Amino acid sequence: MDIQFLGGAREVGRSALLVNDSLLLDFGLLTGNPPQFPVETPAADAVVVSHGHLDHVGTVPSLLSGDQRPPIHWTPPTYELTLTLARDTLKLHGGSYNCPFTENDLKRVTEVSETHGYQETFAAAGHEVTFYTAGHIPGSAHVLVDDGDTRLLYTGDFHTDDQRLVSGTTARPDADAVICESTYSDVEHEDRERVEARFAESVETTLWEGGTVVVPAFAIGRTQEMLLICEAYDIPCYVDGMGKRVTEMLRQYPEFVRDADALRRAKSHARFVTGRDGQRGRITDQKAAIITTSGMLSGGPAMSYIPEIRSNPVNKVTMTGYQVDGTPGRDLLETGSAEIDGRIMPVSAQVEQYDFSAHADREGLLTFLEDYRDVPVLVNHGDRCADFAAELETDGRRASAPAVGDTVSL
Ligand SMILES: [Zn+2]
Repeated sequence: MDIQFLGGAREVGRSALLVNDSLLLDFGLLTGNPPQFPVETPAADAVVVSHGHLDHVGTVPSLLSGDQRPPIHWTPPTYELTLTLARDTLKLHGGSYNCPFTENDLKRVTEVSETHGYQETFAAAGHEVTFYTAGHIPGSAHVLVDDGDTRLLYTGDFHTDDQRLVSGTTARPDADAVICESTYSDVEHEDRERVEARFAESVETTLWEGGTVVVPAFAIGRTQEMLLICEAYDIPCYVDGMGKRVTEMLRQYPEFVRDADALRRAKSHARFVTGRDGQRGRITDQKAAIITTSGMLSGGPAMSYIPEIRSNPVNKVTMTGYQVDGTPGRDLLETGSAEIDGRIMPVSAQVEQYDFSAHADREGLLTFLEDYRDVPVLVNHGDRCADFAAELETDGRRASAPAVGDTVSL
């Protein structure tokens, strides 16, 4: 089996792997200014997508811009999330270099889509492919690819611990080689129950003092996780941004969430913001949590909320995930001010950060890989892939960290 790394190797973003010159696994986008795409657009016979995050699906529609019509295989939520993300990219950047596809390409995605559930083996470009639950977001999959000689397990992004939205992965299919993500290979997550309790107590304190809490959250996964937490702790909350549509969509796929009843309760507990008639301005003095995109304050309705709440030190902004260097969210944490909607704004409101990660941490990665002790591990999707591979080698394993453009033969 030959595997070509077209992106997402020794980096996070634009994940793309070509197996045996014919089967493409993921085709993502590295967000930034300008965004980056996989280094090559291969003429693949079929495409398989691990999950519906921009860095894994963001460039998929461009595969249909020429005469090629490869079938695209994914779970139903991954398909829906891809359409949502692509429509958003078109709305924000359509017609510019930042959007490598058109409305027409996106229409073709709906024509070539083939959805599959977990553990239903299907054929793709002459390979047998099976999805296993990856515990990252709804619909996320480990992808097992069998070319008749070699069984390759591509982990995609995964989590071994339970989240409220999805259960941690326990799937360990037999494989002859593993491509393993390593986003948090040097991080120990704080116990999830403790993070939740600290978050809830902090929000409740602010509301009790008469303040408002803005909770920036990614639309996919994180927004729903925060809604579930707010319902569980009975924290009054609003939800705004793309996360609203994603929440509604996920309600249609109860088999892909951990507790469909809890998600239903969380959705009815939250008030959905329409944004009409100055509603955003009004709700900033409602003594509630406002869960909104974007997760790193780089756009979305958060741009309306932060200016409204920033000057009162009773108010609070609680970041719910990792903040990439150079984003307004990161600047706010480090300097107490951020560029919001083109204006540098000092923020007197309190700013906090919580680790609600949807990725396995170091211990999770090592526990997972313990079941693959005797097979080669190719480390990808991280900022320190080579270091982590070296650590695995020190532990007596066969491990490497291919770079973008490399081809590995197994
Ligand atoms: Zn992901």
